[in-house]
Amino acid sequence: MNATQPSPAGAEAARQAPWRQHVTQQHAQQQDAARELAGRMLDWAQRRVSAPTLLLGAARGFVEWAHYPQPDAIDPVSGWKFYYHAHAASQRLYHEHGHFHVFLPAGHDLWTHWIGLTLDRRGLPLRLFTTNRWVTDEAWRSSGELAGEHPRLRDAAPTEVGAWLESLLCVYADDVAQLQRERDLRLAGRGLDDHRLRIPSQCRVNLLERLQALGVQ
Ligand SMILES: [Zn+2]
Repeated sequence: MNATQPSPAGAEAARQAPWRQHVTQQHAQQQDAARELAGRMLDWAQRRVSAPTLLLGAARGFVEWAHYPQPDAIDPVSGWKFYYHAHAASQRLYHEHGHFHVFLPAGHDLWTHWIGLTLDRRGLPLRLFTTNRWVTDEAWRSSGELAGEHPRLRDAAPTEVGAWLESLLCVYADDVAQLQRERDLRLAGRGLDDHRLRIPSQCRVNLLERLQALGVQ
């Protein structure tokens, strides 16, 4: 073996280096997002507001199926959008107040569903979920096509909710990617317009535990 050829172990390390760097960078981004999220939620707790109360504002009552805000919140920089709503009581989880649907742009007036996020009555995240294509009539993209996308919502008004959602989805980026992959596996052979299947994948989340795991006390 001459000096210009790396040893097999060295070659393996060289192959892993960019991957390791990526993982380290992502972890640092998630720690930053976790700190931002915790700071914002502390501020909200002191002001006695939450994402739903900021969105519902002075609205009298919470109208089932209506979107909050109106029109849907679109980030003018990235084109990503979100809205919050509640389905009929029979379709809600126990403790669910309502949920977000987050989308990325897919061309003129077309959207791809990124993830759903259910909140409890205190405004804390309860679960993440994917939806079948027909649920939001989305422009479908496979989990492979979605890999590498990052929600960018901080300029979507109301911007403090947009920024909160962006930080939250950064903290849960790995879980979202996993749910998107599980969605595709579950839908294989079932069809994107099978009305018997609304939620192909979902997972419960505990934000306080996640923030602690990311070093936020
Ligand atoms: Zn919904």
